[in-house]
Amino acid sequence: MNDSCDVVVIGAGIAGLSCVVWLRKLLPEVDVRWVAKTQEIGGILYHVHNTIKDWVGVDEATGPEMAELLAAWTDERPEALDVQSIRRTDDGWFVDTIAADFVVLATGTEIRIPDTPGLRDGLDEFVFLSTSKHAEQLAGQRVAMIGGGDSAFEGALILADKDATVDIYSRSESIARARFQAGVADSKNVTVMAIPAVVESVSPRGNGCNVASNHGEVEYDAVIVKVGVKPVYPDFDDMPDTDAHGYVIVDAQQRTDLRRLYAVGDVTNIMPQSVATSSGAGIRAAYSIFNELSGLESSD
Ligand SMILES: Cc1cc2nc3c(=O)[nH]c(=O)nc-3n(C[C@H](O)[C@H](O)[C@H](O)COP(=O)(O)OP(=O)(O)OC[C@H]3O[C@@H](n4cnc5c(N)ncnc54)[C@H](O)[C@@H]3O)c2cc1C
Repeated sequence: MNDSCDVVVIGAGIAGLSCVVWLRKLLPEVDVRWVAKTQEIGGILYHVHNTIKDWVGVDEATGPEMAELLAAWTDERPEALDVQSIRRTDDGWFVDTIAADFVVLATGTEIRIPDTPGLRDGLDEFVFLSTSKHAEQLAGQRVAMIGGGDSAFEGALILADKDATVDIYSRSESIARARFQAGVADSKNVTVMAIPAVVESVSPRGNGCNVASNHGEVEYDAVIVKVGVKPVYPDFDDMPDTDAHGYVIVDAQQRTDLRRLYAVGDVTNIMPQSVATSSGAGIRAAYSIFNELSGLESSD
C-alpha cells in the first residue's frame, strides 16, 4: 500500500538534517517525511577523520565528533529507508512507495574504491581509506598511496611527518594544490612514482601486502586509497540533469531541472563540498519550498 506526504527529504547528513529542521520551522503544518539508509545522523562525517577547523562558532572537531554533536542537538531521527527508486507522477513523486509533492535529494557521496583486484579484500586489514585515522598506526612504515589529488599528497605529507616512507601511485599528472606538491617535492620520505603509475593488483603478504603495478611488484605495510568520492542517488525513472561527473545540477534555489525535485549538499554540483555549504544548501531548499508553497515563486 502506498502512503503519501507533502515533502520527502532523503539523507541524514548535515544537508538533509538542516533542510528538515528548517522545513519544520517554516512549514509546521506541512507533512515532512525524513528518510535515510540508517537512522544515524551524520552521513559521510563518519569518514572524516581530520579535524574540521574554522567552522564558524564550533570548536575544532573530527567528523565523527561533529556527527555526535549533531545527534545530541536534536531528538529527531530519520526513518530507516534505503530508497531504491524515485519516479515521477503527473503531479508529484514516488519515493519507493511514498507519494510526495516535493522531494529533496540529500544523498551525498561515497568514497571511491577502484576495482583493482585485491583492494576491497584488504579493506581495514592493510588497505585504508583515511590517512588521519591511521597515521599513528602507520608511523615509520612503508605505505603505497593511490591517488593524485590533494588528499593523496596531503596524506603522504602527514605520514612523512610520522617517519613513514610513502610511494604515490597516480595514473595521471597530479591535480594537488601547489603547496602540497611543493611539500612532496621537498620530502625525503615521499616518492611520486613515474606517471602513469597504475596499480594492477594488491595481495596480502605477511603483515602487509604486495602491490603490483606497471613499475613492478613492491612490498608495503599498507595501502591508502585516495581517489575521491562520487555522488550517490537511487534509480530515477527520469534522471535530473547532472554534470560530467554525475553531480546533480541545481540553481540558486537548489532546484533541479525537474519540477519539485530539489537537491542539496555533496550530491550537487555546488562546490566546494563542505559542512557549511551543505548546511546552507539545506536551509536554502527549505526556504525555496516555503516560497513555492506560499505562492511566492513557482518551479513550473
Ligand atoms: C575525507 C573528507 C574530508 C572532509 N573534510 C572536510 C573539512 O575539513 N571541512 C568541511 O567543511 N568539510 C569536509 N568534508 C566535506 C563534508 O564532510 C561534506 O561536505 C558534508 O558532510 C556532506 O554532507 P551531505 O549531507 O551533503 O552528505 P552525506 O553526509 O554524505 O549524507 C548523505 C546521507 O544520505 C543517505 N543516503 C544516501 N543514499 C541513500 C538512499 N538511497 N536512501 C536513503 N538514504 C540515502 C546516507 O545514508 C546519508 O545519511 C570532507 C569530506 C570528506 C569525504
